[in-house]
Amino acid sequence: MSGFRVAIDGPAGSGKSTISSTIAKTLGWTHIDTGAMYRAVTLQAIELGIDLNDEAAYRFLETCHIHYDHDRIYIDDRDVTEAIRSDKVTRNVSLVSSFPYVRKMLVGLQQAAAKTTGNIIMDGRDIGTVVLPDAELKIFLTANVEERAKRRYAERVQKGKQEPMAQMIEEIVNRDRKDSTREASPLRQAEDAIVIDTTSLTIKDVVKKIIAFIEQKENVHGD
Ligand code: C5P
Repeated sequence: MSGFRVAIDGPAGSGKSTISSTIAKTLGWTHIDTGAMYRAVTLQAIELGIDLNDEAAYRFLETCHIHYDHDRIYIDDRDVTEAIRSDKVTRNVSLVSSFPYVRKMLVGLQQAAAKTTGNIIMDGRDIGTVVLPDAELKIFLTANVEERAKRRYAERVQKGKQEPMAQMIEEIVNRDRKDSTREASPLRQAEDAIVIDTTSLTIKDVVKKIIAFIEQKENVHGD
């Protein structure tokens, strides 16, 4: 059973996950944060002590169950929602997600989830281009790098961490560069995506805009 599918892509700190999660809660839909899945693989790889540069070493994914449910991410039955936000995971996730084998495994899980769930909103880097190329609605979120770094900074402060703003900007620029220049499904705007620049918008503004697009499309499809 496949319902209405919304694909939300964009660079680091563009607000994808918070916005997607809020929309899903408002509409009673399923939300999947695919970035959390790539982070979970990275965490598991670090904990297993594999050579992160060796694509063949990621075969551990054949026997490992990665699962996203209600804003929580699990490796087998272990809740790793907080652990995947560590600096070590953030520093290595772009490398891990550049391997075609890792992407093939996770894209398979994501496509299966979209098939077996009703209405779904999925966020990431390649949802509109690779995971759900025929999604009913595709959104590409952007924001200037200073604003994205400011959001990351505020998130860290909330967690009691204070890092220089210059470091936040560097981390975001680096990750965007790696994510958009890799060979396997790079971060790219789908041709039929609606672009929303969130630089001077609140989360509430963006949520309202996207829900309006969903309602518009649902009316056109006659659901
Ligand atoms: O969304 P978030 O910033 O948590 O994603 C972490 C990383 O996971 C990204 O920097 C990117 O390397 C990878 N990713 C990806 N494809 C997706 C989602 C995330 O390659 N669909």
